[in-house]
Amino acid sequence: MLDKKEDKSTQVIIASILLSAGIFIMDLMTPLGVADAIPYIAVILLSLWLPHRRHTYIAGIIVSLLTILGFFLSPSGERLSIVIANRILSLFGIWSAVIFVSKYKYSLDVINRTKESLRREKETAQKYLDVAATMFVLTSRDQTVGLINRKGCEILGYSEDEIIGKNWFDSFIPKNQSGQFKKSFNELMRGEIRPVELFENNIMTKNGEKRVISWHNSLIRDDGGEIIATLSSGIDITERKKAEDALRQANKDLKKYAEELKRSNSELEQFAYVASHDLQEPLRMVASFTQLLSRRYKDILDDNAKEFISFAVDGANRMQRLINDLLSYSRIQTKERAFNETDCEEILGQVRANLHESIEKNGAMITNDPLPAVFVDQTQMLQLFQNLIDNAIKFSGKGPPRVHLSAENKGGEWLFTVRDNGIGIDPQFNKRIFMIFQRLHSREEYPGTGIGLAICKRIVERHGGEIWVESEHEKGSTFYFTIPVKGEK
Ligand code: ADP
Repeated sequence: MLDKKEDKSTQVIIASILLSAGIFIMDLMTPLGVADAIPYIAVILLSLWLPHRRHTYIAGIIVSLLTILGFFLSPSGERLSIVIANRILSLFGIWSAVIFVSKYKYSLDVINRTKESLRREKETAQKYLDVAATMFVLTSRDQTVGLINRKGCEILGYSEDEIIGKNWFDSFIPKNQSGQFKKSFNELMRGEIRPVELFENNIMTKNGEKRVISWHNSLIRDDGGEIIATLSSGIDITERKKAEDALRQANKDLKKYAEELKRSNSELEQFAYVASHDLQEPLRMVASFTQLLSRRYKDILDDNAKEFISFAVDGANRMQRLINDLLSYSRIQTKERAFNETDCEEILGQVRANLHESIEKNGAMITNDPLPAVFVDQTQMLQLFQNLIDNAIKFSGKGPPRVHLSAENKGGEWLFTVRDNGIGIDPQFNKRIFMIFQRLHSREEYPGTGIGLAICKRIVERHGGEIWVESEHEKGSTFYFTIPVKGEK
């Protein structure tokens, strides 16, 4: 580039020297008076192609000297006054040209410098825009892109050159929306509508993907106050939108499932309640009539028949117990009462009273650390404590049952423990024992239907807590359950 410039300068200097020499020789050959020196102006004009103003001045001085030299060396001709006038005229022409060329070069210089500083300013502005984490787009009045930063190119997937000068709406907005946006943009440019500062829309990337951008717009006006472009900064919110949509959908699904669950739960409860309630009556009939049968016909019936009847009575009684258990299980939700501040030590006192007989009979010892007051359904809390203590006495080993209760505040919830020295539970059954009618022993070994822990689980869960057991076979069991401290859950 530089070489080319220097080349051109040398050519211009050579041309100037040749031209000056030519004019000088012509001047020497023609008699004085003829305005031979005037063509020197051409040499000055030639210096327009030389980069510096000083070249023009040097050329001006040289041709001025040649003009004066020509005055002395040319053959004499016209009158001296005309000759002198001619030479002065030439010098005047030469220096007018020098001034003109120098001025022209000066203004060219100023323009170039201004252009250069504008270019540098634009470059700096572009650099600032490029480090921004948001995309910037300048859309000119004619809808073409005048400027885009690096982030914008990144999101759109095009290089800057592929974007600049393109119609923003035709090239980067989905086809079905571009018409409407174009219309609004034109109205905005004409000042017919007020700008919307914040809005969201889709853009099309190079690989045909749609991305959602949240835009912040500002108008660019010229010195006369006329709108000439919009400068928009945009954040790609596609992922956020997707996450929001997924969350909304998940919430919707969850709500639907919760409603379905609630409905099926209440249907199930209704069914269990009605079934157990309505079954009781025919069952009572079966039990009482078989008993009647055995009493009234005891002289006629042989031993086998009596035994069969006792099996039937026993079966009917067991069924009645199961139905009653089912009924109380289903009532945990249906017959729920309000929660109250309840002192657990008082509850324990009631349990001790209720289980008095069994405690005495088994020589059981029930001890406790200080127990808190909790916000619960009082009747259900009594049922929970009683079931656990009853089990601890029932499933005691050989020695007298020892049961110890304690509670610890774990921040948001109370952790209760009921520890015994009984037969323990094989850890593989830790979950199973909380299921309805699941037992690990026969009725002959230990009486019961297997509803107790299922009821405990339901009560704890209704209060927003959890229940579990830790135990080793033959080494006693510890039942844990949590109850949220009031207002924490
Ligand atoms: P049930 O007491 O009527 O059998 P539960 O639901 O209360 O029914 O208990 C289920 C089973 O869990 C019991 O059959 C027993 O095998 C086991 N179990 C419950 N509590 C204890 C305990 N404290 N120690 C050992 N085993 C227990």
